[in-house]
Amino acid sequence: MRLRCRATAARRRMLCFWLLLLGFALVTLLLSDFLSRNRSPSHQNLGPPRRPLRRFSSPVDLEVIVDSRDPALELGLDLAPLKSLQEDQLLFVPSTQGTKSPVQKKGGYKVLLPGVNRDSTAPGAPTLGEMGRAVQLHLGGLEREAELAAVLKYGFNEVVSEKISLHRRLPEARSPGCLREQYSESLPSASVVICFHDEAWSTLLRTVHSVLHTAPKQYLHEVLLVDDLSKHGHLKSVLSEYVSHLDQVRLIRSTKRLGAGGCRTLGATRAAGEVLVFMDSHCECQKGWLEPLLERVAQDRTKVVSPIMDVIDWQTFQYNATQWPVRGVFDWRLDFHWESDFPMQDKEADSAVQPLRTPALGGGVVAIDRHFFQSVGAYDPGMLLWGSEQIELSIRVWSCGGSLEVVPCSRVAHIDRHHLPYVFPDQEMLQRNKIRIADTWMDAYRKIFYRRDTLAHFIRQSESPNVTERLQLKRSLGCRNFHWYLTEVYPHIYIPQDRPALSGELYNVGTGSCADYPRGQGAQGGPMNIAPCSGTGSQVTKTGEVRWGPMGRLCLDAKGERVVLSPCPTQRPNASSGPQWKFLKARRRT
Ligand code: UDP
Ligand code: MN
Repeated sequence: MRLRCRATAARRRMLCFWLLLLGFALVTLLLSDFLSRNRSPSHQNLGPPRRPLRRFSSPVDLEVIVDSRDPALELGLDLAPLKSLQEDQLLFVPSTQGTKSPVQKKGGYKVLLPGVNRDSTAPGAPTLGEMGRAVQLHLGGLEREAELAAVLKYGFNEVVSEKISLHRRLPEARSPGCLREQYSESLPSASVVICFHDEAWSTLLRTVHSVLHTAPKQYLHEVLLVDDLSKHGHLKSVLSEYVSHLDQVRLIRSTKRLGAGGCRTLGATRAAGEVLVFMDSHCECQKGWLEPLLERVAQDRTKVVSPIMDVIDWQTFQYNATQWPVRGVFDWRLDFHWESDFPMQDKEADSAVQPLRTPALGGGVVAIDRHFFQSVGAYDPGMLLWGSEQIELSIRVWSCGGSLEVVPCSRVAHIDRHHLPYVFPDQEMLQRNKIRIADTWMDAYRKIFYRRDTLAHFIRQSESPNVTERLQLKRSLGCRNFHWYLTEVYPHIYIPQDRPALSGELYNVGTGSCADYPRGQGAQGGPMNIAPCSGTGSQVTKTGEVRWGPMGRLCLDAKGERVVLSPCPTQRPNASSGPQWKFLKARRRT
């Protein structure tokens, strides 16, 4: 009896085991089937894409709904489907169709509303791990851990910076004409205001020494260091002690984190020089940089001026002179750019030494009369810690009676960092600052911005910024409107027409990816490829151009088989017109 029982129990256990095994096999089979079904069928026969294809989180939200009753809005670009989906190149297949009766194409391109630019330098709060991966990729050969840690901490290679003298002199880069320039003997005095938040020791002190070495004593009222609540130990008592031994240098500390603009406004209230020179805490000045700036402000107290901003390489700390002419602009996402490739007006032709009017200035170094700075409204106190404050100042100065110039005989170098090293509490800070600019200064043109920055658009829908005080300031100063600014100051900006459904992203419904223009290819254009959709918009103009990106200066063009971007026909007066793009009716998503 006992034996039989044991035998039965053993059989049961065996049965259970086999049942379990069978169950496990079934589940695995079902799961793998489910997963493979979930994969887009179009991806299966593509072979591995070079970059993982990212999908929109909610493509339906972003897709333009085409009203098929309106023939003007019929959609479907005159592009055949991609010839080879194995490549990430974007290929051009000329239309074989007549222009009059376009036949509907399958698998054409759809136009999507621009989304959020995921590649933007918008400050979020990246984890160290994320940042580490990015830097490791970028650094390539740099293997030393200390260097990586330094780059993570500061956005530049502090280890290299430490090895360079705090007193190094930059090689001469000024035009020979500048060396012959004579300046008035009675220039106004300057307070150089250097705000810093957790700046590296070597770069901060090199900035200070560089000012002390290059600014004539009689014009330098003071160097005012403003600590924006730094946490790093080296910026505490050691810095106070160091600064106490330096002539003409003062250090003040904020008890509240003010951010880049707020910190400068604080510095301005404590500065006593006639001209304020706001300077980033990681700069190096070229000989003779201060006099040309002071002279310009002395001639007209409403002029706000900047040197040519040269570049210090974030990895090697090598000095790179910036090509002249250069001017500051911003695009319809309200991102700032220095622009070097533009034709000079005739009257500006002999301008190796002549200051150049500029629609905007970068934040690195800005010289402004102290009283004018206060009367024109300092920096917007409603702006959060970092981002776009220089664009706000630029539009405001122009609109409210001042002007901006880049002065070529003045040169200061600035470290263009690999990434912003701060961790901000508000991930949408940059958008919130831009919203303030749009709502205060851009009048109806703000719609163009909101169409290009979807995140800002949604934030604006759910919360209104309080810009009442800035609007009051605008009224009381009698500032001009944005139309005036665009016409008089920034006439070369392309103003998108943004016709419904004719603007957005070039999206391939087959692959779920978008036409893309790799970063770093420059303003002159180059080959396009296909890549995960990044939200870079384009629009089709009435003349059949497809204008690309928030600047709208480059147009879709063809070079042999490849789709390329090249300067739009209207940007190159004597060139032949580019290809005409037509809309065909899109296949509707079912
Ligand atoms: N800064 C500051 N407080 C902040 C952020 C920045 O005082 O919360 C300082 C920073 O140390 C630098 C200047 O403001 O001297 C401009 O900032 P940053 O260099 O980060 O801007 P970027 O040059 O990268 O645009
Ligand atoms: Mn900076």
